[in-house]
Amino acid sequence: MSVPGSAPPRNGTVAPGGILNVGRTAGVATACRVLAADGQDHFCFGHVSARSADGGVFVKAVGPSLARVTAAEVAEIGPDGALRTPGLRLHEETALHHGIYARRPDVGAVVHTHPLAVQSATTLGPPAGGVYSQDEVPFAAGLAWYDDPALVADPARAAAFAACLGGARGALLRAHGLVTVGADLAEATALALLLHRAVSVRLAAMAVGSPRPLPPAALDGLWSAFEAGHRGRMTAIWADACAGIGADAGDGIGEVR
Ligand SMILES: [Zn+2]
Repeated sequence: MSVPGSAPPRNGTVAPGGILNVGRTAGVATACRVLAADGQDHFCFGHVSARSADGGVFVKAVGPSLARVTAAEVAEIGPDGALRTPGLRLHEETALHHGIYARRPDVGAVVHTHPLAVQSATTLGPPAGGVYSQDEVPFAAGLAWYDDPALVADPARAAAFAACLGGARGALLRAHGLVTVGADLAEATALALLLHRAVSVRLAAMAVGSPRPLPPAALDGLWSAFEAGHRGRMTAIWADACAGIGADAGDGIGEVR
């Protein structure tokens, strides 16, 4: 156990103030595998992160595809930016995660993936206005559109992306993929599952016709109902997805904000 004045807390230790780090690397790894099971894998690309108790970040490292990530492939970055896990290399787009955490104190976890349907849909330009399916409802208050197709791999682009994201729960990146954020891994991951499905529904509908946005009154009703139960829905989606891959859901719930 750490005490004030001692070295920063590491995974599996308790920070000053009693904030538990146990399971943070396992939670990031579980989120990666949940996303892979949802079809969000893209070779060895895409990554997930969670804020650590001391203000640093746990983030998937370079190497395996999302489907094969274990806690051993989750890097720890200290609040000073130093890599604390020798032998692991960071993805270039780790900058994207830092940019979001710097701007959004409410965010405890970030997902960035390149699902086939999302990458395809984002070649078409910003999505048409309106909400088209129930899975889009959690993003009805705003889904950011990031028009720069380059990698978000440096501090300037990361800051620009974070400004584009603003206070939204997620973003679509041109010809690239998606980003979702949440208070913890459960929320960020559940939102990524919902956004992937929502975009897939739009794409499937557009292939055969002209989808209609939800009528305002119906959207208002769904928004109110979903927001009232938002936390429970996020946790339920996460727990079910974890059960589907035989993982412990508890590692991703209740991260530090
Ligand atoms: Zn990317």
